[in-house]
Amino acid sequence: MTEQETIKKWLSGQRENMVSLQTKLTACQALAPESGGDGELRKCELLEKELAALGFPAGERFDAPDSRVPSGIRPNLIVTIPGKTDNVVWIMTHLDVVPPGDSSKWETDPWTVVEKDGKLYGRGVEDNQQGLVSSVFAALSFLKTKIVPELTIKLLFVADEEVGSTYGIQYLLDNHDLFTQSDFIVIPDGGDPEGAQIEIAEKNILWLKFTTKGVQAHASRPDQGVNAHLAGCALALALNSLEKHFDLRDPLFEPDRCTMQPTKKETNVPNINTIPGDDIFYLDCRILPRYPLAQVLKEIARVARDIESQYGVSISWKEEQSVESKATPTDAPVVAALGKAIQAIYGVSAQLVGVGGGTVASYLRNAGYNAVVWSRMDGTAHQPNEHCVVEYLAGDAAVMAMLMLGEA
Ligand SMILES: [Zn+2]
Repeated sequence: MTEQETIKKWLSGQRENMVSLQTKLTACQALAPESGGDGELRKCELLEKELAALGFPAGERFDAPDSRVPSGIRPNLIVTIPGKTDNVVWIMTHLDVVPPGDSSKWETDPWTVVEKDGKLYGRGVEDNQQGLVSSVFAALSFLKTKIVPELTIKLLFVADEEVGSTYGIQYLLDNHDLFTQSDFIVIPDGGDPEGAQIEIAEKNILWLKFTTKGVQAHASRPDQGVNAHLAGCALALALNSLEKHFDLRDPLFEPDRCTMQPTKKETNVPNINTIPGDDIFYLDCRILPRYPLAQVLKEIARVARDIESQYGVSISWKEEQSVESKATPTDAPVVAALGKAIQAIYGVSAQLVGVGGGTVASYLRNAGYNAVVWSRMDGTAHQPNEHCVVEYLAGDAAVMAMLMLGEA
């Protein structure tokens, strides 16, 4: 048997152990303080105990201080399996989960794993324990078969992914020198049901709050006022039409273009027969990485000045969020290696994709590391009746193991 076959065979016998780990982890609620929880420490300690029982060497903890939780810490754990080389493959998953939400929408108890028709149900079983458990068994396959991987394996289990990463990956990037630019970094926390999509980029995000000031008047006398709402409407339309100005296309993304959408609207006057003197709305822009946000802001200013002179209003705006994200290059070695592993296990060609914005990979990419997001999943994260297809646990573990083996 080849090393590949030995590992695949070993993994195929681990179904019960994988489900058991999923079950234990799900029962151990790890909610951020923002979600009314006490953090990830208990879950991290449980995981450390389980890893030791499975035969892993002790990991290293990088705890972030957080006075809002009783323990005062948010744990980050790294477990290393040395390979033939110092080249590193990281599999990064997060320990925290989101609250169950409306409990009446759950058919089973969110904290008790139930298996039905080849699927496990429970909060966190997909996001992010599927990836977590797969990574554990991928690494374990080397320990149990005594095959030495080509790459040094580092399993990274982080805290605080669901509400901002301050005490998770951002803490690690700011306080520890863990990564190098040649490292492979895989984040199994997003994907498609075929396991084909590798996410390598996100759009830049710009959220703006626009305040338009006119002159309030009786609705029968528009001649005595300046209708801020009307000017605000014109502004919203003009800003939206900037989608045509920034008109380049990038097939990596869906949709493949920049989007600039007016979204939230604040209430103005309470009655129908008053012309509003103030108008406030928000714009959500998802911009292709090739357009710097400074260029977008310049065009926005031009449009606003235009509306001001047309309608006799004054317009100001404030950035509510502004994030520029670097992309992992399409020719980064991790992209090709992961693509080969996916082909070997799932028999599909990898498809490179970008997303609308806001994944944890951006922290790593912006720090100069080539992170990719990949896994095979139905995409039920954060929903009631979240599930994980049991078959994907061993499948994803096999893909990760092929990547670690270095000969996929
Ligand atoms: Zn997640």
